[in-house]
Parts: sequence; structure tokens; C-alpha cells
Amino acid sequence: MDPNEPGALPSAVIDRDGLDALIATLAARGYQVLGPRLEAGAIVQGPVGGIDDLPEGWLDVQDGGSYRLERGAGSALFAHVVGPHSWKRWLYPPKQALWRAERRDGGFTVTAPDEAVPRYAFLGVRACELAAIAIQDRVFGLDAAPPVTDDPPTDGAAAGGTFLDPGYAARRAEVALIAVNCGRAASTCFCVSMDTGPRATGGYDLALTELIGDGRHEFLVEVASELGAELLGTLAHRPAETADIKAAEAATRRATAQNRRAMVPGVAELLEANREHRRWDEVAQRCLACGNCTMVCPTCFCTTVEDTTDLTGRHAERWRVWDSCYSLEFSYIHGGPVRTETSARYRHWITHKLSAWHQQFGSSGCTGCGRCITWCPVGIDITEEARAIRDSQGPAR
Ligand code: SF4
Ligand code: SF4
Repeated sequence: MDPNEPGALPSAVIDRDGLDALIATLAARGYQVLGPRLEAGAIVQGPVGGIDDLPEGWLDVQDGGSYRLERGAGSALFAHVVGPHSWKRWLYPPKQALWRAERRDGGFTVTAPDEAVPRYAFLGVRACELAAIAIQDRVFGLDAAPPVTDDPPTDGAAAGGTFLDPGYAARRAEVALIAVNCGRAASTCFCVSMDTGPRATGGYDLALTELIGDGRHEFLVEVASELGAELLGTLAHRPAETADIKAAEAATRRATAQNRRAMVPGVAELLEANREHRRWDEVAQRCLACGNCTMVCPTCFCTTVEDTTDLTGRHAERWRVWDSCYSLEFSYIHGGPVRTETSARYRHWITHKLSAWHQQFGSSGCTGCGRCITWCPVGIDITEEARAIRDSQGPAR
């Protein structure tokens, strides 16, 4: 869109120094800036103090069950795609104390943890990750309550949870979101088919598109909030011109064209109609029930509670920790677990994610980020499993 057209978001252009200054400005305003960092052979999220901390020149090459980094992106700072971390680890930490108890005067005193709410700025949030944050906002009750219904799923239905997660809400309220539009896709990405990317369309404060090549290295900056406008106002910038917008659009077209995988249309109804299917047994022969797919998924939210005591018996704690619907214990109810077979656990995960989620939260639970494909040790591919069900509509097992 031309920057002068009605409806165009306010936009400007900054250079590498401008990005460095943005990180410094966020830090000076009290944000802990988190962004992509190279660590232990992967690009993960962590504290970023300036552009020198970003993974300059690195590309991630991803496929089913495989991830490797390569040099080859020149001086690009955001040529990589998504890695094993998602932003949920900061908004909904893997381990949280729920309460602590001390034995005193013949009884117990129970206290809630009194931890300061961190003030995060997320740098480099991709469009699929903004979609994942929007989904978690509904799961954790920040949006309107969903209708509880047995009706067939429909995209865009009223969404939201009835029960507010106060910890998530507190952290979420403080977050500044600096999105980065993808100019490249991994072979595992399928955001286009989920309508969640590769370009961020809202839900951020600032969105950057890296414009690199022919001697330039700049960032188109789109502003979508008051905070974003304030931040841009602190930076040296020039107005965006039509050529800048066109360069950003070309980057989006490139990432769109590189989306090799796609989710089958109508997957919610497809899975709903195939609760009994021989494919569940076939996938169970490969699935290790390791739970990796749920740990890396930016929307999976299942947890369990763990109670601990010290050796004196005077101090006890209860913790909430991420759990996975692939663990045998997860479906334990009185008398034993109800999903004893791996086939039942895989079916439960994919059917909840792609079908029942619509009825619960008003959208798919999948954003097409591809993490579950890359980080599955045996390369099980959620798009391939859905396609196999569609293509083999044979008799029920
Ligand atoms: S199910 Fe897989 S592709 Fe979909 S959001 Fe989760 S990790 Fe990403
Ligand atoms: S689908 Fe892959 S990642 Fe998920 S539980 Fe099975 S083996 Fe693990």
C-alpha cells in the first residue's frame, strides 16, 4: 500500500543505528528487551542489549525433524525464521510457583508468591507469533467469553476464556511488541494456509521489515499504537516512500512463495468426522509420545502441579509446570489414564489443536509456525497427517 493512501499505517524508515537506538530506548524505559540470539546451535529468545546481540548473517535451515544454522545471509539481522522458543515461555513460564507454606505455631501459613511483574519488550515477533499471542489471550481469558456449543466450528466466532489467568494477564499488560515481517520462510512454515502470515497485520506496537541489498540496510517501520508512535518519535527516521513500501511488499511475496507446506482446507470438520481412522495407528508406530511438539508449540497450554517439601517438613511449595497431553499421566483420572495408547494421544492433540479448539476458543489452535514439524525427533508433520486423513477416506478401522 502506498504510504500516502488513506488507511495506510503511519510508516517511516530507520537504519541499523536506528534499530540499535530503539533497543536502547526500550531499555531506558524500563523494558527488558528480549529478542533472537544465537545459543547452543540454535536461534533462541533471550536478553538483547543492542544489534550486536542479534544473529547477524545466520539462516536456519529447517525440515521435518531437522534444524541447522548456516552462514549466508550477509549482514541481515532477521533472515532466520522461528526457533525452538516461543514467546509463551515469557508470558506463561514453564515453571511458576503458586504458593509456599511454612509450618508455624502448630499450623501452616500459606503465602502467594510476591514476584514483581516483568516488563518485557519482545523484539522480532513474527506474524504467526502475534497470532499465537492472540490465541493465548483468548485461552487465558483476556478476551470475551466464548459460546459453549456443539455447533460445527467456524473461523472467527466469538472467542475467549471465562477464567482469567492473573499471571498471564499481568505480564501481557506490560509487553511492548516489536514485530518483524518475514522476508523468508522455512520449509516447515505454513502460515499462508492458516492466514496468519507472513506479514503482521495488527496486534503490535511497531512492525519492522528488513530492507537489505543494493548497498542499503534499512527497516521499514509501521506504527500501530500510541506506544509505537512514541518510540518512533525518539528515533532518527525519514518518511517511508513508495519504493520502500514496494521493497517491503517484495519481501512478503518472497516469504509467501516459500511457504511449501499447507494445511488442508476444512481440517476442523475433517478431523471431527474421523475420530476412528486407521491413520491414528499408523502415526502411533512412529510417534515416541515425547511431547516435544507440545513444548515448542506457541499455543499449547497444558500444565500439571507439583508439590514439594524440604527435608525438615517445615516448608512446602506448589508449582505449576508445563505438561503435555502426550504423557500417560496427563489423562489420569480416578483409576488410571484414559488415553493409554499413543494413537489416542496423537489423535487427541491434533484434533484439539485443529478442530475442537474452534468450539472452545473461536479459532484454530494452530498458527502454521511449523515448530512441531521441525522439533519432532521423527519428523511427524501435522500437515501431512491431516492430508493423509483427507486422502484416505477409507473404511473406519
Ligand atoms: S501445532 Fe505446530 S505448526 Fe501449529 S502452532 Fe503449534 S507448533 Fe506451530
Ligand atoms: S508427534 Fe513427534 S514430537 Fe510429538 S510426541 Fe510424537 S514423536 Fe514427539
